[in-house]
Amino acid sequence: MAVKVPITVAHGDGIGPEIMDATLRIILAAGAPLDIETIEIGEKVYLRGNTAGIEPSAWESLRRTRVFLKAPITTPQGGGFKSLNVTTRKTLGLYANVRPCVSYYPFVKTKHRNMNVVIVRENEEDLYAGIEYRLTDNEMECLKLISRQGSEKIVRYAFEYARQHNRKKVTCFTKDNIMKMTDGLFHRVFDEIAAEYPDIQNEHWIVDIGAAKLADTPEAFDVIVMPNLYGDILSDVAAQIAGSVGLAGSANIGDHCAMFEAIHGSAPRRAGQNLANPSGLLLGAVLMLVHIDQPEAAERVHNGWLRTLEEGVHTYDIYTEDLSKQKVGTREFADAVIARLGKKPETFQPVSYAHKRPAAAAQARRAQPHSKTELVGVDVFLEWPSRNANDLANSMKRVDGDGLKLLIISNRGLKVWPEGIPETFCTDSFRCRYTAAQTGTPVTQRQVLSLLERLDAAGLAVVKTESLRNFDGKPGYTLSQGE
Ligand code: NAD
Repeated sequence: MAVKVPITVAHGDGIGPEIMDATLRIILAAGAPLDIETIEIGEKVYLRGNTAGIEPSAWESLRRTRVFLKAPITTPQGGGFKSLNVTTRKTLGLYANVRPCVSYYPFVKTKHRNMNVVIVRENEEDLYAGIEYRLTDNEMECLKLISRQGSEKIVRYAFEYARQHNRKKVTCFTKDNIMKMTDGLFHRVFDEIAAEYPDIQNEHWIVDIGAAKLADTPEAFDVIVMPNLYGDILSDVAAQIAGSVGLAGSANIGDHCAMFEAIHGSAPRRAGQNLANPSGLLLGAVLMLVHIDQPEAAERVHNGWLRTLEEGVHTYDIYTEDLSKQKVGTREFADAVIARLGKKPETFQPVSYAHKRPAAAAQARRAQPHSKTELVGVDVFLEWPSRNANDLANSMKRVDGDGLKLLIISNRGLKVWPEGIPETFCTDSFRCRYTAAQTGTPVTQRQVLSLLERLDAAGLAVVKTESLRNFDGKPGYTLSQGE
């Protein structure tokens, strides 16, 4: 008897318990050796006063099994409740979100007959670190953080996924023509790691035109890897245009744990009526079976499910008079899949899964030597309610001294002093760049502190500062537009 693999299961809210019941019945009938631990998460836990929606005992189970099959949950309306998905992803370090988006033409309506795209989204960085500030009365800030390590992990994951699943190409989407430092790093890391996988094609698209191409001609793509925000948006677009939001599953993968789910929510209006389509969660479970190296069960379930779909046995959400043969409920759909376990689809291409190949040992990457850094100036952000850059410059120039000199003032990244023009609209938040009065002389923290003291004494409202540092002689900051 095969050794049972322990997994943690949460039945969730709304349609969750029905689709989880259907999913578990199917995968167990397919012979997946599983040892199931059940935890409670979601609405009931939130309403007991736990703002995270998950109890400490549930974390213990997740840390023990490291594999989480999760039904959708309902986040109660009103403030104070934290997103359980975000908490789980961050706490368990699930850095990769993987979402296969496939169209099922001619059995499910779609505008794209040949779509089979896997979106690999970075899950922990970018604008989603949740680091935001109110700078002034009128301006808010959200920090976009991209690290070399974070980018390497997700890009390598995308190439390993492609190799494991016999995919031919990995595409990277960024906006590095504008965000040259953050997205620029992600793109550079993509190029470096792509060179280690000569068997897999690689390409890069600017995200705007890439997204347009994806929506118009998804068959041009295979695996697409993206930073967090673009991935969040485009994984929904991709699932929707495949025609199958109710049919898509997703995996969240980390170094130690992984979570598998449907991409849809708890659909409370459909709950308890034996109506919901369990397919999204079932395909999430297929991803899980592959992850825990049970490819035989994954293959039986996936092929049996495709056969059910092409025989026209459909739940209400995909049922159409012309394409479907039988409208069934959640339970009957699960029975229909179970009856077809061991069969292969005849119109769709049957899927096949292999046992995991050991991940390619990452080529010894040249350790990045620690850069030599040098402080060359400071950006001081100020609130200036009159919004007049020349008035601000007059006040700021008065605090020049001690080897530092006001070089430039910008507003929302655009140079507005010296030589600004009155037509430029300014907000009340200005950035004043100070550098060494004598070009080429290094700047010290002591000079920065004394500048701040002089600004404070002059009654100027400093909001924050950013160090201007050179790394191996190259600026670690961007110039202002027009500088
Ligand atoms: P939803 O995905 O639950 O529903 C959107 C629409 O799709 C509804 O018309 C619904 O009836 C239909 N639908 C969804 N899944 C279906 C299925 N399996 N079979 C048939 N029809 C299905 O989105 P929503 O209505 O915006 O959100 C409802 C609740 O779900 C909210 O509390 C939200 O916070 C939560 N939610 C949870 C998750 C999650 O746990 N991962 C994800 C998204 C939303």
